[in-house]
Amino acid sequence: MSEENGSANALVSKDKTGDTMKSLLDNFEGDDDRKSWASFQERIAKAPQQVLRYCRNGSTKPLWPMSSGRPSKPDIPTCTYCQGPLCFEFQILPQLLFYFNVKNDVDSLDWATVAVYTCEASCEGTLAYKQEYAWVQLSSQSVTVS
Ligand SMILES: [Zn+2]
Repeated sequence: MSEENGSANALVSKDKTGDTMKSLLDNFEGDDDRKSWASFQERIAKAPQQVLRYCRNGSTKPLWPMSSGRPSKPDIPTCTYCQGPLCFEFQILPQLLFYFNVKNDVDSLDWATVAVYTCEASCEGTLAYKQEYAWVQLSSQSVTVS
């Protein structure tokens, strides 16, 4: 028997991912957030195992699970290296919390989504590691890390 055929799909049941999504929903209070979350789930349901969404052509916007806690334009800084604009590159979805085996405790790792912004000009290609910008939308409030 080969283990090569074992994929994430085989290891994780949709029901379990659904539980993670539902427990996030329980945290919401506002109608706008609930509405936003519902349409977010509708989009995600087309590929329920996805944990990352990539910006394909530079015009894709993050799919925000909630209406509150989104960054506005001034919230996104300019590139640390060339001072040019940053653009949305990819976002991490809450389903990843399930794959990380994050427990549902008060101080557990948690996010509704994490949107990562990178230099539009992809400058400083010689550096192995670059500082990028991440916007974290939490299910109750929002904070930023970089
Ligand atoms: Zn740059």
